[in-house]
Amino acid sequence: MAEKKRKRCSFCGRSEEQVALLMTGMEGYICNECVEQAHAILREEAMLPKSDFDMKELPKPKEIKAFLDEYVIGQDEAKCALAVSVYNHYKRLMQRDACEDVEIEKSNIIMVGSTGTGKTLLARTIARLLKVPFTIVDATVLTEAGYVGEDVESLLTRLLQVADYNVEEAERGIVFIDEIDKIARKSDNPSITRDVSGEGVQQGLLKLLEGSIVNVPPQGGRKHPEQKMIAVNTKHILFICGGAFDGIEKKIAQRLNTHVVGFDSVQNCMHVDKGDMMRYIAPQDLRSFGLIPEIVGRLPILTSLRPLDREALRNILTEPKNSIIKQYVKLMEMDGVALSFEDEALEYIVDVAIEYKLGARGLRSIVETIMMDKMFEIPSSGEAVCRITREYARVQVEKRQVLNMALS
Ligand code: ADP
Repeated sequence: MAEKKRKRCSFCGRSEEQVALLMTGMEGYICNECVEQAHAILREEAMLPKSDFDMKELPKPKEIKAFLDEYVIGQDEAKCALAVSVYNHYKRLMQRDACEDVEIEKSNIIMVGSTGTGKTLLARTIARLLKVPFTIVDATVLTEAGYVGEDVESLLTRLLQVADYNVEEAERGIVFIDEIDKIARKSDNPSITRDVSGEGVQQGLLKLLEGSIVNVPPQGGRKHPEQKMIAVNTKHILFICGGAFDGIEKKIAQRLNTHVVGFDSVQNCMHVDKGDMMRYIAPQDLRSFGLIPEIVGRLPILTSLRPLDREALRNILTEPKNSIIKQYVKLMEMDGVALSFEDEALEYIVDVAIEYKLGARGLRSIVETIMMDKMFEIPSSGEAVCRITREYARVQVEKRQVLNMALS
């Protein structure tokens, strides 16, 4: 009789004595262990926000930067800004769930630097270690509603897709908007010509940056007018923007010039490094370039990337964890061939990249050109060793240049 009265968990059947806590419901009981299991199931099914990051588990800004260092050469300033921004993003998400009284506002970030200096690479690299959905989108496709191109809302389509259409997850994500300079106003007077990809798009983008509820086409684009929109709140989405802002150096120089008129002008002149104007970039330069002040205001962290000098290019060839040379060594290793490059050959590759103003982007195609014949021959030649000399590299590059000229 006594056994019948004993309270038991209605899920696992264990009695009150066998568990730490038994909770009473309308019709039955549930023990602490079954509650925990149910919680785990909900989490697995992505029905709970996964935002309760453990502060101790989160990579600290220094760790994030060390990770970026493994793949990206130089650009320390941008790396630090990114690391801090991402770390704070996590903290803000944690705070959002805790509903505390001091609200931490998000700090979207903008990276300015010539093409091929590593903006996209930085974004891709940081994506590897993020604990929230992340996507890279291109601003060049955006136009004002009604024109050929994409609506601003479509920027969030990719994020939704990455988050498996889990809206709550997407709302905590990070979007990298590449080529943001392409939506700058083309002229100072917007009424001169129709500027379909300029100010109108910026106004649309502003809505996203500020944080609002926007209707996102789940399939993207305007090709599926029948699709049911998904409402996404952008309040907690972090936006990282990148752009080359070609010609912005002139605006920076103009601003610095007007500033140096004054009693401390001599002092100012001495400090300006004319070869790297980008380091003096300030928010007002983005405005002069054609971004509307409201957008500039919503991108409070402004950081610039340095032009890559000779040493940086040389390091890019061999230092990153998956550097171009390491990739080729791996490729050859799979054929049982030990590939190596003479130091002078590497210097030669850098010379060509500089001579033809190809920057880091060109390094891969130069190495590709040099390796083409070897890649073709070696798998069937039975050679075990392949050493690329400067002379071999030069002959290959010049041979292909002649070929390219003949073809063009
Ligand atoms: P951006 O987005 O600034 O135009 P990318 O990040 O696309 O330039 O860089 C193009 C390529 O050049 C990259 O894929 C990478 O191979 C190389 N690269 C550029 N900058 C760096 C860097 N700082 N460190 C290592 N590789 C780099």
